[in-house]
Parts: sequence; C-alpha cells; structure tokens
Amino acid sequence: MLGCLFCKIVQKQIPAKIVFEDDRVLAFEDVTPQAPVHILIIPKEHIPTVNDIAGDQEEIIKYMFKAAKNIAKSKNIASQGYRLVINTNAEAGQSVFHLHLHLLGGRHMNWPPG
Ligand code: AMP
Repeated sequence: MLGCLFCKIVQKQIPAKIVFEDDRVLAFEDVTPQAPVHILIIPKEHIPTVNDIAGDQEEIIKYMFKAAKNIAKSKNIASQGYRLVINTNAEAGQSVFHLHLHLLGGRHMNWPPG
C-alpha cells in the first residue's frame, strides 16, 4: 500500500536486515530491538491489523508462526524460550499499521508485559 513503511521494506525501497523471505512472508530485524533477538515477521500482502484479516487471508497467520518457529531455531533461542507478540491498535501500542509478529528472545521475559 502506498505510504506503508513495511510495504516499502517488502518492495526493497527501504533497507532492512532480512533474516527470512519467501513468497508469502518477510522477516527482518527490528530497528529498535527490545531484546538480543527481535525480529519482525510480516505478510508481504498489506493487512493493517489482526482485525482486518479476511477469510481468505487467514492462512497467512500459519505461515507467520511457522517462519517465527524456524527463525527461533536458527537463532538458537527455541529451547530456552521466546515470546511472540502482535500489538493491535492504539491501546496495545501498535505503531506500524501493517500486520507484524514480534519474535523476542535471548533474555528473560517478564509477565505481565507493560
Ligand atoms: P508495533 O509498535 O507493534 O507497531 O511495532 C512496530 C515495530 O516496528 C517497532 O518495534 C519498531 O521498532 C519497528 N520499526 C519501525 N520502523 C522500522 C524499520 N524501518 N525497520 C525495522 N523495524 C522498524
């Protein structure tokens, strides 16, 4: 979508440290990491939030989680643990309105989150 930051990363108009890519999803390092491992997994298709996932797009969630699982393994954080987060809309702190799954790991995580 025109003007969308993450669409521009998908289209390689903005640089990113890409860790995984296939025809459906792209994964890249978060520019402001909140943990030693902080990767964003996004659908290549523009979907603003979880609320906007339409029936025929639901499969994308499966591919995003599969990519997250594989990246966690490749970053050697799978066995000690990691956190997957999708912020949705203002109260959850969503700041980029292109669906993204945060993969966070490499340190102890507190609960409840802030
Ligand atoms: P959220 O607050 O859940 O919408 O997460 C958006 C995330 O995108 C934040 O963690 C930002 O640090 C990250 N971010 C913003 N711009 C970029 C960028 N150009 N490259 C990588 N990550 C970014």
